[in-house]
Amino acid sequence: MSFTIQNALIPVDSGYETADVQVADNCISAIASNLTPVGTIIDGKNKLLLPGFVNAHTHSSEMWQRGIIPPLPLELWLAELYDFTPLDPEQVYLSALGTAVETLLSGGTSVVDHLVLIPGQELETIAAAVRAYQEIGIRAFIGPLIQDKSLTAGMPAGDGGIEHAAYIRSTKATLELMEAAIKQFHNPEKGVNILLAPTGIQLCSDALFEGCIDLGDRYNLCLHAHLLETNAQKQLAQEKYGCSAVKYLQQIGFLSPRTSLAHCVWLDDDDIAIMAETQSTVVHNPLSNLRLGSGIAPILKYLQAGVNVSFGCDGAASNDSQDLLEAIKMGSILHNITDLDYRHWITPRESVEMASLGGAKGLNAANEMGSLTVGKKADFVLYDLTSLSLLPRTDPIGLLILGRPTNAVDSVWVNGKQIVAEGKVKTIDVDDLRRELFDRSEWTSQRQSPMVGKIEAHYRQVMKLSLGG
Ligand SMILES: [Zn+2]
Repeated sequence: MSFTIQNALIPVDSGYETADVQVADNCISAIASNLTPVGTIIDGKNKLLLPGFVNAHTHSSEMWQRGIIPPLPLELWLAELYDFTPLDPEQVYLSALGTAVETLLSGGTSVVDHLVLIPGQELETIAAAVRAYQEIGIRAFIGPLIQDKSLTAGMPAGDGGIEHAAYIRSTKATLELMEAAIKQFHNPEKGVNILLAPTGIQLCSDALFEGCIDLGDRYNLCLHAHLLETNAQKQLAQEKYGCSAVKYLQQIGFLSPRTSLAHCVWLDDDDIAIMAETQSTVVHNPLSNLRLGSGIAPILKYLQAGVNVSFGCDGAASNDSQDLLEAIKMGSILHNITDLDYRHWITPRESVEMASLGGAKGLNAANEMGSLTVGKKADFVLYDLTSLSLLPRTDPIGLLILGRPTNAVDSVWVNGKQIVAEGKVKTIDVDDLRRELFDRSEWTSQRQSPMVGKIEAHYRQVMKLSLGG
């Protein structure tokens, strides 16, 4: 299958050029002006062609709880999330589709789904997400979310401590499950990649981390985890290891060019140096960090230290959307208030590179995707520059990143296959998806989370918050 996009605007070092882009065998085969057309001809006039972005950290099934969780910090928010998490693979399938649609329509061609597993139906959960992503055609990196400690272990013990229930599954059984998932689902040729994704130091044992490193080495897979999202986790790392979480992860061999880490809010300068030295990737989730009050990640320091940074939406229950362009905008301009030296601030072109090539690097896939380069996979997006939100004509990338683009995505290709045309997803019936999401949910504003009630007093105590009313 081959095609030619004619007369699209593409960014070059000196500004923009009008060029034709040809695709053959799922890859970009030529970029130049006035190419002799091959295959189907697509009109790129008044459209901007950019490499697809990576939604480099999300949890698709959280879509069922977007908009409902009250303002809470991560540790209490998680307790509420887990009290109401989906228990049905069909729901997982639908929310994976929803996550993919919103990612595609905001410039994404790849998604990293740190997938919450339904207890007792773990492989069915992964199968449901795989089915959704293959049907819609987005490139999927699925990191089944694993842990081997129960939720309360994620808080610092402080002086008092708190009783922890045993986790539902043994470390050994979890690692066996991951190996089964790799054998069953890892299929990069078909656009499905499995990541080893322990949730983070707060809920995982040394043995679980080491088992993931071993599987990653044996199957040459990427590693993914949350890292120091909250101040509570920074305290917890000191309690558990007597050193920073980053130093601990380096010591056990978890950090590498194949490792991406979500959030990275509470790292100090020594930690940042380790991230640079190990060539690990930071996934910046600015909206989630604001929503949960986690803090502002020191992104400008990462960039100055040479650390690769990409963007994620994080799950829709802490965002509460999957609009990648919104996350990129916020994640770019947020840091202007953290450093007075405006020469360090992120430019729109740098944002685009972080979202595309930065995302690819974090998945050890920079040779295959992340830029408009001959030989790379045809994962790219055409933006309609006649959309009202991208007018009048100024700097297209400047307005795409700094503006509030609506209906700006005209077409999306993943692996050379067109997924979106004229602003509509073509591979699935989005009206059907809307109906299913509507029928399987209800309007509600009040619900009580038993788990929040159980752990709130301890949380307030260790975080030194007032215990009175
Ligand atoms: Zn997350």
